[in-house]
Amino acid sequence: MTLSPATPTPRTRRWLLSRGAVATAAVLTAPLTAPAIAGASSPAALATVDMELVLLGAQIDPPKSGTGITPGAGAHVLTVEQALNAEGLLASAYVDGHYGSSTVSAYAAWQRRLGYSGIDANGIPGQTSLTRLGESQGFSVTRAVTTGSRWDSYTGKRVNTRTRNMLARADTMVSWSLTLTQGSYTSDDPASAGTHAGGGVVDLSVSGLTTTQRWRTVQALRTIGFAAWLRTPDQGPWGYHIHAAAVSDPDLSQPARNQIHDYYFGRNGLANHAPDNTPTSYQVPFTWWEKYLRG
Ligand SMILES: [Zn+2]
Repeated sequence: MTLSPATPTPRTRRWLLSRGAVATAAVLTAPLTAPAIAGASSPAALATVDMELVLLGAQIDPPKSGTGITPGAGAHVLTVEQALNAEGLLASAYVDGHYGSSTVSAYAAWQRRLGYSGIDANGIPGQTSLTRLGESQGFSVTRAVTTGSRWDSYTGKRVNTRTRNMLARADTMVSWSLTLTQGSYTSDDPASAGTHAGGGVVDLSVSGLTTTQRWRTVQALRTIGFAAWLRTPDQGPWGYHIHAAAVSDPDLSQPARNQIHDYYFGRNGLANHAPDNTPTSYQVPFTWWEKYLRG
């Protein structure tokens, strides 16, 4: 059995909103003891969902169904999938704790049902859409990840506030200044394949920096939760620069999420998925901004 989320039946926004309103009303009138999730054989849904861990699975789980669950994330992803299943958006076969392409499509359908579009319907949780799903299906959200304003900036380039704060922290770890050459949200087109189309992604200038300084910049960015690589002219149609994607930014585009996946598995985030070219001495354990701040 297969849902076909890639070719959704066209619905009007009014129809979607009215359906959402009906679903909410049904939950509100149901007895408090009623199980929110259908299916007696399903594992019990968690009462609380850790948004950081759902995002982790959404970025790192391989896209193909049944091809791996990111350690720590599975139970939280499973609860979200059970809720999407109960909303009629995800087939039971995909309720498996693996945040694959079917779950991405189902979550995007949930976001559209709430009236969202574009990067707001990117298929991974934002705080509001996840909280609304929990309100409808009986879980609460912990460790919410928020972007802050999408119209913040750093060295004159557009980034969200979470990304700006990350860059400001990384800047304190080196004795030279970090300067952006490209920011985030470069396209309003949700189908854009650009890694910079969503939030959390920046390019940094390395002009004037020695090789060691360039690697130390990559290291600083990685230390506070970016997937960051030094790009070189032999890799593509560009000059030397650093490309960085903020791990667990809820506004990441799908291509940027694929880069986080690559980074987690020690690859370069380019089309050839070659091994990370960063010298071992500059590599650091995988982390994200909220985890880094907890120390
Ligand atoms: Zn870039």
